[in-house]
Amino acid sequence: MIYRPFGKTNTYVSVIGMGGMRFKKEDYEEKPYARAVKIVHTAYDEGINYFDTAPNYCDQLSESIYGEAFKDMKRNTFHVSSKCGLWNATTSDGARRMIDQSLKRMNLDFIDFYNAWSIKTMDEYHQFMKKGGVYEGMVKAKEEGLIKHLCFTTHLPGDQIIDVIKDGNFEAVTLGYNAINFAFRQKGLDACYENRLGIVTMNPLGGGLIPQHPEFFSFLKQGNDSLAVSALKFILAQRKATVALVGFSSVEEVKEAVMATKGLPEKPENFLETMGQDVHTNMNTLCTGCGYCDSCPEEIHIPQFMDSYNMYLLSDDKERISQRLTMHWGLTKDEAAKCIACGQCESMCTQHLPIIDRLEQIASF
Ligand code: SF4
Ligand code: SF4
Repeated sequence: MIYRPFGKTNTYVSVIGMGGMRFKKEDYEEKPYARAVKIVHTAYDEGINYFDTAPNYCDQLSESIYGEAFKDMKRNTFHVSSKCGLWNATTSDGARRMIDQSLKRMNLDFIDFYNAWSIKTMDEYHQFMKKGGVYEGMVKAKEEGLIKHLCFTTHLPGDQIIDVIKDGNFEAVTLGYNAINFAFRQKGLDACYENRLGIVTMNPLGGGLIPQHPEFFSFLKQGNDSLAVSALKFILAQRKATVALVGFSSVEEVKEAVMATKGLPEKPENFLETMGQDVHTNMNTLCTGCGYCDSCPEEIHIPQFMDSYNMYLLSDDKERISQRLTMHWGLTKDEAAKCIACGQCESMCTQHLPIIDRLEQIASF
């Protein structure tokens, strides 16, 4: 396993982190959740020392599964991350109740990295930060030693991530970053790196879309590695991302992810630039998130809408558009109907995408 310094936190974390959101129901139906616990212990034995969870994962049982697993793990040999979203609490006292609940479920005295969970818009950021809000509760818990580091997870675009981190409230960030969306995220990731935040990337396989679509993502494939391993290597080879979080459902998946840390190639300086060109060449029906179109006179969030349309193209399931817009971008599909078909965005689009037609489809779905 490879370990990297986690921002300014004086902590070394494994480059593969375990996400606790993909345990299978049949593996955690009954306490002490033996099969799910075995997955955690396999990850630990393979050298993974970063374990991420949240109160709502796996029918609210993810933290309890970890709690069982942690009983056999020495506390100073692993790091835990958990979260509080605005749907869990909106006040300082509410945040404290969530922290106490997480500690109890996991049988821990402290949580290493506690996150303001899923900041999707600047309005949500301000809700976390308001007087008497969740962030205040996190700060108090840190003062009492219940939390070691204040962190956030986000789906904000790069410019807005910069706005958040310049306030200096957080020590680490967790953000979606993979071969599908890296162009959307690069600016934010670079800014976090320059500000020495610990950086956790989530969703390295694009919610399973990358291994399910080898034809689209063949350019990622390296030698005999599977597409999943190649996609992970794509993230791990970039030194800026400290941890790649992988949600494991089986012992085999743990072993496959750990394989990606072996023989990790040194990437040349222009690696991402070359990747960007490959993406343009190989995914010519997909939006690559370059952002050149992003000056709509009707203030439509075009890159976010086209990213959501990507999910439809890759899954053939139109429900994925609304899911992506709301869960990931904090938007609703109604905005698509504001398009006046001026054509400005299409003339700028580096992929020559039929943006007007796609917006029309989204509005009608
Ligand atoms: S065509 Fe529609 S989406 Fe594109 S810039 Fe004009 S109004 Fe905005
Ligand atoms: S210019 Fe085209 S490829 Fe780039 S973000 Fe806009 S829609 Fe996507």
